[in-house]
Amino acid sequence: MRADMQWAAEDGADAVECRLDYLLQPPDEADLRGLLTDPPVEVIATCRPVRQGGRFDGTEAERLAILVTASRLGATYVDVEFDVPPKNRPTDAAIILSHHDFDRCPEDLSEIAAELDASDAAMNKIAFAVAGPDEALRALDVIRSSSKPTIALGMGEAGVISRILARKFGAAGTFAALAAGAQSAPGQPTIDELKALYHWDSLGPATEVYGVIGCPVGHSLSPAVHNAAFAATSLDAVYLPLLIQPGADNFNRFMDAIAARPWMDCRGLSVTIPHKENALAYVGADNCDELAVRIGAINTITIGPDGKLRGDNTDYAAAMSALTEAMDISPAQLAGRAVAVLGAGGAARAIVAALAANGAHVTIYNRTVSRAQALADEFSCRWASITKAASLEAEVLINCTPIGMHPKVDATPLPAIPPCVDVVFDTIYNPLTTRLLTQANDARCRTVSGLEMFVNQAVMQFEIWTRQAAPRAVMRNVVTQHLLEAD
Ligand code: NAP
Repeated sequence: MRADMQWAAEDGADAVECRLDYLLQPPDEADLRGLLTDPPVEVIATCRPVRQGGRFDGTEAERLAILVTASRLGATYVDVEFDVPPKNRPTDAAIILSHHDFDRCPEDLSEIAAELDASDAAMNKIAFAVAGPDEALRALDVIRSSSKPTIALGMGEAGVISRILARKFGAAGTFAALAAGAQSAPGQPTIDELKALYHWDSLGPATEVYGVIGCPVGHSLSPAVHNAAFAATSLDAVYLPLLIQPGADNFNRFMDAIAARPWMDCRGLSVTIPHKENALAYVGADNCDELAVRIGAINTITIGPDGKLRGDNTDYAAAMSALTEAMDISPAQLAGRAVAVLGAGGAARAIVAALAANGAHVTIYNRTVSRAQALADEFSCRWASITKAASLEAEVLINCTPIGMHPKVDATPLPAIPPCVDVVFDTIYNPLTTRLLTQANDARCRTVSGLEMFVNQAVMQFEIWTRQAAPRAVMRNVVTQHLLEAD
């Protein structure tokens, strides 16, 4: 524990919480002296009992005696649970009075927070499990309304927003793990993520807030890409993962919670599966670009300082710019060209809509033929079963299926590239070079990787939100590095 304390100090922690209940046996005075003499950082001594989710199973008197000794020997604070009666709380110690709910966000959260605030403790701590980021925002309400130093956070993956924005709202601190796998509560970032990914040290009252809404969202590259872009352009902004369970109700509740808190300075949201349609419905067709409305989905929400919302779909624009740049033509010059699209899902829909809008002659090939037909009817295209794709006749071939995506990297949607094809665009970006793109290279076709589309949509979002040029090379590099490291 002492070695970990040193490690935390070197990694830039301001304080460490020593979970004395995790020691193999209850610490005696000599143990505590060894641990607490001249610590490299401030120490919070915690000895959580089993009834509060900890590991200490001795008597309450033994537990409180350990905390009193820890305080006497140098711990800056001792953590005392809210359920310890005031008369039993250690005197002559700086107390963090803590309330935990590992199951839910308490209905009487405001009353609990007010009681903590009215106590004699030096600091308040309140932590509760959250079902969605809308509940996590209630932790920010607590921080803002407390009259003394307060730590308040939502536990679980959906609570990340409260753990990071704690800094913006002047919380007494947040908790971070020394390393992945060493978290003491669900949703806790590592100290490295806190500092290198979310730039904790530079967050402040004026920091603007952005994020990506999705389910799942844990493996999204967007936080790494956008936070790096903000840092490279010295913008005071942070970008967070926002896990919202499927369903328009869940999506709407979060958006309403943001709207009710203009002081959050939330200025933009990326939206991914399964909420792109919900996002369009919430923002309203009148506030979205025309093609996005035809596609029926947006992936970008911009929030004005007055709370006004705007919706865009950078997916289709990103795909068109990746394709036309590789072909060295303008989008309008797609008119009359034969394009074969494999797949009829969300990505295909955005790409087909944009191709059709530019006058390309599109044929959709899909496994489920009825989906191909429905999409083709909507955008006046032709359609066929994917089993017919080997004999397709087109100048451009676009793969919008996951065939060939990590981990099944040896798969390819076509046994060979038909000789008429000149350009092959695979929307998959993991791996960077799919088997289909290797086939295309061998057949001397021009190739476009999903990486270009992914980077383009992030670049476009950055530029919509900030109205300044995005650091494209930095953003591209972050994606490439992550994908190479994941290999
Ligand atoms: P989706 O809505 O689930 O659609 C998947 C499509 O692929 C459907 O048409 C599906 O056919 C077809 N498909 C799936 N597995 C198949 C298989 N084993 N054999 C034949 N067809 C199969 O997914 P999406 O959102 O459109 O995403 C599709 C791909 O696009 C993703 O895998 C991703 O790599 C790529 N993408 C890239 C970016 C980027 O920025 N580069 C962005 C979005 C998506 P059925 O209709 O028969 O089910």
